[in-house]
Amino acid sequence: MDPVKRASVGARSDVRDDVRSDTRLEDQVKDWLCYGEDLGLGPYYRDRAPLHAIAEAAAAPVESRGVATPKRISAPAPAATAAAVPTVMAVAAPGRAPATPIGVASSSASQKAATAAAMKTPPHAPASTILPATNAPSLFEAIDGIAGDTLQRIREDIGDCTRCKLHKGRTNVVFGVGNPKAELVFVGEGPGHDEDLKGEPFVGRAGKLLTQMIEAMGLRREDVYIANVVKCRPPENRLPEKDEISTCSPFLMRQLDVIKPKVICCLGSCSSQTLLQTTQGISKFRGEWFDFRGAKLIATYHPAYLLRNPPAKSEVWKDLQKVMAVLGLQPKKR
Ligand code: URA
Repeated sequence: MDPVKRASVGARSDVRDDVRSDTRLEDQVKDWLCYGEDLGLGPYYRDRAPLHAIAEAAAAPVESRGVATPKRISAPAPAATAAAVPTVMAVAAPGRAPATPIGVASSSASQKAATAAAMKTPPHAPASTILPATNAPSLFEAIDGIAGDTLQRIREDIGDCTRCKLHKGRTNVVFGVGNPKAELVFVGEGPGHDEDLKGEPFVGRAGKLLTQMIEAMGLRREDVYIANVVKCRPPENRLPEKDEISTCSPFLMRQLDVIKPKVICCLGSCSSQTLLQTTQGISKFRGEWFDFRGAKLIATYHPAYLLRNPPAKSEVWKDLQKVMAVLGLQPKKR
C-alpha cells in the first residue's frame, strides 16, 4: 500500500481506536456512576455535596432541595418562672443589616483540622433519613479537636493576622472575652466600631444590651464567654463575607473546643448559620435546640436587631429562659 494511503487508513483506524476507547471510557464511567448510585453516592458524584447535605437533599421535598436544614434536638422544658420580659430588654434603636447565606471552608492545614473537628457531628443530618453505610463519619469529620489546645495558643496562632482582607481596616483583633471555663458562650457576628477600638467583643450599644440580657439571666458578664465568628471589624459594619468567615471561623471552633460550654447561644444569623452550616433564615430555627460537638446550641436574635426591633425582645427572652432552664439559672430579682 502506498505510504500516503496507509497513513490515511492508519489515521482512520486511529480515529476508530479513539472512538472505541472513548466509548469504553464512557461505559466505564456510566458503570461507575451506576455503582455509586447503588451505594447511595449518586448525588455526591452529581452535585459534589457533602454527605449530610446529600441526605438532606434526598429527604427534602423537591422544591426545597439545596437548602441545608438544621437537625433539632428535643427541647428541654422552658423555665417555669420569669415569663415576663425584663425591663432591661425594653429599649429601642437602629442596628445592623440582616445576614445573607454563608458557608464554611478552611484554608490552612490547622484551620482544616479545626473546621473538620467542628463538623464532627453535623447538626443538620435529618433524623428521619436512613442512609446506607456511607452515613459513617468521614475521615475528615472524624478528626478530633487539637490536642492540648488552649485559648492562649489560639490567640498566639491568630497573631497579628493578615489571613483575610479584614485585617486592612482593623485596629485590634477582637479575640473573645470572659470565663475560659464558661458553661455558656455567646457567639456574635464580628466586631463593630467600639469593639475594634477596645479589642473586646460586644462593648457598643448592642453589647450593652447583651450585658443586660446576661444579667437578666442571673449571671454576670464575666461568668460567660463572648466571641465572634470573625475577629476583625468588617468595614462599615457590613456582614462578614464567605471567605472571611471560612478563614476566621476555625479559630472560633477551637475556642469552643477548648471552653467546652454546656450551651452555645448564637446571636443572629451569621453565627447560627456558620455553626449549623445552614443557609436557612434564623427565624426558621430560632429558639430550638441543636447538638453541636457535645454542647447544646440555640440561636436567638442579635441584640443589634433588638435595638431596631424591640418587640422581638420577648422572643429572645423566651430563648434565654430555655438556656436558663438547661443551666439551672434563676432570673435576676428585680
Ligand atoms: N456585634 C457582634 O456581632 N459582635 C460584636 O462584638 C459587636 C457587635
